Amino acid sequence: MSDSQTTVLDAVVVGTGMAGLYMIKRLNDRGLNIQAVEAGSGVGGAWYWNRYPGCRADLPIIEYSYSFSKELQQEWDWTEVMAGQPEIEKYLNHTADRFDLRKDIKFNTKVTDAIYDEAANIWTVTTDQGDVYKTKYCIMATGCLNEPNYPGFKNADSFKGDIYHTAQWPREGVDLTGKRVAIIGCGSSGVQAIPQIAKQAKELIAFQRSPIYTFPAKNAPMNPDFLAQAKADYDDIREQQLNNEMGICNYRGPKKPKDPNAAPKPRPSKKIMDITPEQRKQEIEDFGINVLTLYVDTYYDPEANEIACELYREFLQDYLGDAQKADALSPKNYPLHCKRPVIDTEYYAAFKRDNVSIVDLRETSVEEVTPTGLRTTDAEYEFDVLVYATGFDAMTGTIKRLNIRGRDNQLLADQWKEGPRMYMGLQSVGFPNFFTVTGPGSPSVVSNVLHSIEQHVEWIDNCIGYLQENNIKTIEPELEAQDAWVEHVNKAAEGSMMTAPTCNSWYLGTNIEGKPRGFMPYLAGTKTYREECEEVVEKGYEGFKLETA
Ligand code: NAP
Repeated sequence: MSDSQTTVLDAVVVGTGMAGLYMIKRLNDRGLNIQAVEAGSGVGGAWYWNRYPGCRADLPIIEYSYSFSKELQQEWDWTEVMAGQPEIEKYLNHTADRFDLRKDIKFNTKVTDAIYDEAANIWTVTTDQGDVYKTKYCIMATGCLNEPNYPGFKNADSFKGDIYHTAQWPREGVDLTGKRVAIIGCGSSGVQAIPQIAKQAKELIAFQRSPIYTFPAKNAPMNPDFLAQAKADYDDIREQQLNNEMGICNYRGPKKPKDPNAAPKPRPSKKIMDITPEQRKQEIEDFGINVLTLYVDTYYDPEANEIACELYREFLQDYLGDAQKADALSPKNYPLHCKRPVIDTEYYAAFKRDNVSIVDLRETSVEEVTPTGLRTTDAEYEFDVLVYATGFDAMTGTIKRLNIRGRDNQLLADQWKEGPRMYMGLQSVGFPNFFTVTGPGSPSVVSNVLHSIEQHVEWIDNCIGYLQENNIKTIEPELEAQDAWVEHVNKAAEGSMMTAPTCNSWYLGTNIEGKPRGFMPYLAGTKTYREECEEVVEKGYEGFKLETA
């Protein structure tokens, strides 16, 4: 039912990335009257916006793909083991078309407000295009990495050349041929972009404040036989993903029958502390530098971790053969496994090129942006293009910027001032029928996020079904349950390198000035979390308040 300005709906879905698309499909299947709103001109979310050169998946795509449709699984042919952004965007467009999802999406439109009317039990969602949606359910599928972070450098606007952010790369692409380019940041985005930009640009200067621990991605073209086998094994692959705490099964192809006469395959040691310095070097030689990520004790024992860090730095010295460059690129003063794991394709090889240099921002700091480049406390740098690979105001940035008001007109951003407060990463107290897909307090970004997205979408959809079928007016968390969950999430992160005192990361919110430090995702694992979610439902939505109509 609509008048000229207002549309009355069952549900509004905000965002059409991997989460939004599946959410639309589920709610359509349920027969609800819905509207999705998308800021971009196309679907894909993170895979729509992040189209910088080199952008690709950092997990095997066989597992980082939708599991909800066997037909989709069988009909889509991936061409690389870790697919690139263009292929993933194409896949998501195919998904939108295949399930007829576009009809429900309003593109080039940003939600600005979502305001709850307690008496009517209706959310009023408004957009920057003047749309007004009156809806019973509001679902934020805005993703965890959506709001780009621009460092607030002095005189940032004075630069006369071109400025790009990896997370808002122009659709038409950027020709950097013959250009002098500066790139700031070396998280996953910077590490993927640098080798590609280095190939095009006349000169590339990488400004790095926290050089990263990164490991070779081992991407390759997809072998058609492997793909065919994976398709045949998909039921098993998905089952194994469900039984893994990261939502990853590391599918290696068909299991070969064991040859009883074959010599046992060499395997790296379990703990770095169990082997001698000579054995450690030998294992790096035998298994590659990635072996450092396999020693379990490096994840919780600071001494083991520091040994691994030192070996990493030595490896870098040997590989680069340039002590000064290696020193500038060496991660120091924070543990391995603190930040999100980064994998790369020929990242360090790029620094062997004559046209690539590094500025170590631990030795000097940025004073200001100038019309022709950037001035540090040590020197002035001139370039034509400035690329920010400076990440995101992650997990809470997008939601906190919106005018989301629940009961008693309270602002969600106010409730989250000291850090996000959610029950199970799904809902916040005072915001009935308002859901967040992969919200803070759920495994989301510390898992195969698409696996976590599917679990959340299904939980939310089943919950809405339950409310509809049982004539329940509202669902929202109980304060006690929410407080206990926040405590539980904090406990789960204790003792991890991700929360070490010397660690700073977007998981902790420390990349954004003024953001309170606190570990936002839930570290206990996807299997544990799914079972907890199922238990809540089995116990009649334990920890949630349900109000009947
Ligand atoms: P990020 O990991 O937050 O890295 C941002 C980089 O910018 C860091 O090196 C940071 O240094 C630097 N930086 C920020 N502000 C700065 C300042 N004022 N001065 C100097 N340096 C500054 O962001 P990201 O690389 O975009 O990656 C974010 C996440 O997106 C990843 O962790 C990953 O989850 C996801 N991602 C995934 C893929 C993939 O799957 N293929 C690709 C790209 C991104 P500090 O560390 O010192 O703050």
